Amino acid sequence: HPAVARPTETRVFVVANQKGGVGKTTSTVNLAAALSQLGQRVLVIDLDPQGNASTALNIDHHRGTASTYDVLVDGAPLSEVVQYCPDAQNLAVVPATIDLAGAEIELVSVVAREGRLKKALQAHPQIGTAAEAGDERFDYVFIDCPPSLGLLTLNALVAGDEMMIPIQAEYYALEGLGQLLSTVDMVRAHLNPSLAVSTILLTMYDARTRLAAGVAAEVREHFGDQVLKSAIPRSVRVSEAPSYSQTVMTYDPGSPGALSYLEAAREIATRGSVE
Ligand code: ADP
Ligand code: MG
Repeated sequence: HPAVARPTETRVFVVANQKGGVGKTTSTVNLAAALSQLGQRVLVIDLDPQGNASTALNIDHHRGTASTYDVLVDGAPLSEVVQYCPDAQNLAVVPATIDLAGAEIELVSVVAREGRLKKALQAHPQIGTAAEAGDERFDYVFIDCPPSLGLLTLNALVAGDEMMIPIQAEYYALEGLGQLLSTVDMVRAHLNPSLAVSTILLTMYDARTRLAAGVAAEVREHFGDQVLKSAIPRSVRVSEAPSYSQTVMTYDPGSPGALSYLEAAREIATRGSVE
């Protein structure tokens, strides 16, 4: 694929929506893989104890593997927990293990508990501007959040620059978004003024139904330019890929799902960071 220009500074995306099953993990891994195919250096941080992003990217995450748990709870540096994907040298992952399930509770007594991930990102030599971090810098970081608004997601919102909200094009799509956006407002007011909701991605879009078209129109009316032009179609190839430890980008690169993730990645890269 024709490469896109690298950003001059690492862009840190928080992929969040407290609703489960809307396509956070699927979008994280496929956009990360797509951007790596477009010549970008990408880091995925798995913040969901289920570790589905780690699985899809073929990264070892059995209990005891160095993981986001060590970063958040023990202050381990990112360099000690990053693993590179076996088949993509510019795609790396900080895996999540089931140990992370206890982190919400263990963190309660930790000082500055909501800023642990931010601290780790700031200390990592491969994150920052071209001048600070050089050619080896990551261009994109995607943080895959669990389906809740607890301390794990809060760490991501404090650490990130841009927020991506995947929205499933179905009947209850907008339900719960109010709560999500007021959490973002709270974080902006008190913890991370530079956080911007830059990107809305419509997922599991079924072009044959009037319902999906209606939901998409409503989301576009509400969020305007924040919504990516490319919507991700519902496709069985997308949902099959993780069981082969692959993203759809390698499992079936010509499929509609892969092509639309590639389009979405190109949009993200070319429009730069939207404030
Ligand atoms: P979340 O991380 O928000 O909980 P997932 O990314 O795990 O959501 O997706 C939920 C389920 O929907 C998974 O089984 C996944 O394979 C499936 N899925 C996601 N996107 C698509 C798609 N475009 N087409 C078909 N199935 C999809
Ligand atoms: Mg998930």
